[in-house]
Amino acid sequence: MKIGLEIHFQLKGNKLFCSCSTEGTESGSSFRRKLTPVMGEMGKVDNAVEYENIRNREFLYHVSTNSCLVEKDEEPPHPVNIEALNTAIAISEALNCKILDYASFMRKIVIDGSNTSGFQRTGIIGMDGYIETSKGPVRISTITLEEDACRKISEKHGRAEYSLDRLGIPLIEISTEPDIADPDHALETAKAIGHFVMSMNNFRREVDSIRQDVNFSMGFGRVEIKGVSKLSFIKDTLDYEIKRQKALNEISGKFSGRSPELGKFIDISDIFTNTGSSMIKKAIASGKSVMCARLPGCNHLMKYGNYRLGRELADVAKNIGIGGLMHSDEFPAYGLMDDELNKIYQSAGKMDNDAVIVVIADKPSFQILRPLLIERMDKIMKLDLAETRAATPSGETRYLRPLAGKERMYPETDIPLIQITEDHIENIKDMVPKSIDEIKSELVEKYKLSYVEAESLINTNMLSTFLSIVKDFNYPSTVSRILLQIIPEFEKKRDKKLTPDEKADILGVALSQGNSYSRNDTVISILGIAKRKHWDRSTLEMAISLYMLDNIPLSELETRQELIPLTEEEIRKVITELVSSADISEKNIIVLFRKKTVRAFDPKVVIKIFRELKPSN
Ligand SMILES: [Zn+2]
Repeated sequence: MKIGLEIHFQLKGNKLFCSCSTEGTESGSSFRRKLTPVMGEMGKVDNAVEYENIRNREFLYHVSTNSCLVEKDEEPPHPVNIEALNTAIAISEALNCKILDYASFMRKIVIDGSNTSGFQRTGIIGMDGYIETSKGPVRISTITLEEDACRKISEKHGRAEYSLDRLGIPLIEISTEPDIADPDHALETAKAIGHFVMSMNNFRREVDSIRQDVNFSMGFGRVEIKGVSKLSFIKDTLDYEIKRQKALNEISGKFSGRSPELGKFIDISDIFTNTGSSMIKKAIASGKSVMCARLPGCNHLMKYGNYRLGRELADVAKNIGIGGLMHSDEFPAYGLMDDELNKIYQSAGKMDNDAVIVVIADKPSFQILRPLLIERMDKIMKLDLAETRAATPSGETRYLRPLAGKERMYPETDIPLIQITEDHIENIKDMVPKSIDEIKSELVEKYKLSYVEAESLINTNMLSTFLSIVKDFNYPSTVSRILLQIIPEFEKKRDKKLTPDEKADILGVALSQGNSYSRNDTVISILGIAKRKHWDRSTLEMAISLYMLDNIPLSELETRQELIPLTEEEIRKVITELVSSADISEKNIIVLFRKKTVRAFDPKVVIKIFRELKPSN
């Protein structure tokens, strides 16, 4: 089994080749466009590009408030966004890549409508790196800086609608070699890369900011699965794809690799003149035809265990705008009457062992569909499963298009080569995100935390909160104790959580620097008072306890009697009373002292005064 990952993440700020913001909404206007294929650098039209041409769709673009003539492809690109370039260099450094001497942008031909120009600008910044994992290093092949595509709004009746708001957002793509051993390892690797991604200050923390493609092969050709939206889906998606390919392997075995010959499409619209199926009635009324064709030897294979050969064919139909492809293993579900079924089978010439497919579409579509179906069956029976598939939100995969080849690149002559000098790399050294191990040792050395505390701060997504609090308040060991022990204890006692920071969960780890205090703003407020009032650690803890357990409002904390620490004079008075009683020693003085007062006190001062006052014996 071979698995590789491509992780894409967006940057916030400005777009890659114009000064539009990365954030915007729809402006109300729109325009239409059709895209046509052009040849790549080597003079050939790429497979995936040709396939889109067959689909022959029209595109409608919704203009957004964050788009200009560059997004419309009516003005050449502006110079590259330097911050985005620097981020790509920094992440390349973090992932041990060689940085290219020149960033050279290419045009990647994409005519599925996701670009107004018919191409996507992309440039390799780093290559030949690696990331450490528990199963050894996973090699990083390339790190590229590219433009994000349009955001798809809808697709129906051969027309796709897109918004320009996402087009041109800087996108960094990290691609690994197929060094990943299994689905669990894929998840681990994605998390490890995710750590560096989330460490970048300008990482765009929005829904859909991170997208993952998974490359997979178990010996039947490389499948590229596009758009795994959540980290946790990587494993589900791979598990589904493994099951799918195993099932197709079994089906292919039944035919010894020889493809069953798809029968001719036969028009059976007449059968349905008085049909009870409103779906078929409506389709015929709108001028569509119902046709059927025989698939020899495929009875009970269209729906095979959990897996469906029928779905393989339906995906092909769907991609050219044909909504319905039914098959004989599923006919009962469509509410067809026995009489209708018999007529369908008769028209198709179905034998016992055959399956029949029924397709509803306009006549010309059948001309396009038939060769695609034959090609698909042939490919499956030969177990040539290489293709581009889409990940679904439920953790499955669907056929998308043939794999793109190398024929879809040509140089972007509107953007000059950008030299990346040693000095340039040196100047942005501070941007390079640190590895988890480096962060741990820094926490231990710089903030004097224990290794366990350092690890817990990272694992509980508290690191960024810790760093931002410590930057302003400088009580590292207290802050760590508050975050890791005091708050969870209080939450448990109160049976209520503080506001959870769900965004931090996107990649399983959240390690941004300088992000907001949103998660623990209560603690920040209390720490603010502590700083003004020069509270010691025990007073601070008492304040948090009052707030969280006794519901004392923040505004009252400053003036609470018990939070005004005892003066040395007052401490001396209490101890004087205490020493007159019998059993008192350094071991129990703090406990006894606490019983004598509700107010905060500095235990060190208590011990000091006790030593002065204790009866010498
Ligand atoms: Zn723009």
